[in-house]
Amino acid sequence: MLQILKTRLHQGHRTTGFPVQLPVLPERYRGRPQLDAAKCPDGCGVCIEACPTQAISTDGGLKLDLGKCLFCTACVDACPEGAIRYTQDYRLATSRRTDLVIGNGELRLAQRMSDELHRILGRALRLREVCAGSCNACDLDTNVLNTVGWDLSRFGIQFVASPRHADGVLVTGAVSRNMHAALLGTYEAVPKPRIVIAVGACAISGGPFRDSPDVLNGVEGILPVDLYVPGCPPHPLTILDGLLRLIGRIHEHAT
Ligand code: SF4
Repeated sequence: MLQILKTRLHQGHRTTGFPVQLPVLPERYRGRPQLDAAKCPDGCGVCIEACPTQAISTDGGLKLDLGKCLFCTACVDACPEGAIRYTQDYRLATSRRTDLVIGNGELRLAQRMSDELHRILGRALRLREVCAGSCNACDLDTNVLNTVGWDLSRFGIQFVASPRHADGVLVTGAVSRNMHAALLGTYEAVPKPRIVIAVGACAISGGPFRDSPDVLNGVEGILPVDLYVPGCPPHPLTILDGLLRLIGRIHEHAT
């Protein structure tokens, strides 16, 4: 017992100070991509060919769809001009699907839920997580938020077992045909007003499984999404940042 107390005292306070203090991200962390279309030679499309999820297009200038991106950096490796690079900016969550398509670095970040929703859910948000055919990476990075290192409940956000006790669903996975009915049933069991959060490239667009006959390409078109959190999987910091923006605990809007 004494040894346990000694170890605990030695460990000290382990919960991140976010959002007041930023945790140190590892050097290899890949955050928001930055595009520099001015570097693209005419007619070049090596990044488009390299991308495994068709996340890049050059229609109307170089564009990258964060909702499809796996952050694999194949495009960075392919580009001889260095037109794409990945920054350490963890702020990626948006309120609208269209905002995930970025051009020369601009990104409209997630906004607070409506006043009416905020009055009801802003101080005590309960979520039911639905793994709709994911590889579990997004689920693991979401569940990390419940550990002492992140202590999600200090913000009034908790995951609950029953959708009847929830205010919304947090969905991961490309929505396999087998999980379609379960996802709809879970959503219907959540009392109104209810919210939907799509976490990860699979839940947003189908990710690497897009257009497979066994998946429905994510929640888009199935449920009305209030928060998109891109990544493969998104870092816990990205998920937490999105959740805090949704409940109005983080206000600033980066461009
Ligand atoms: S990092 Fe994203 S945009 Fe670049 S090749 Fe990989 S999936 Fe495509």
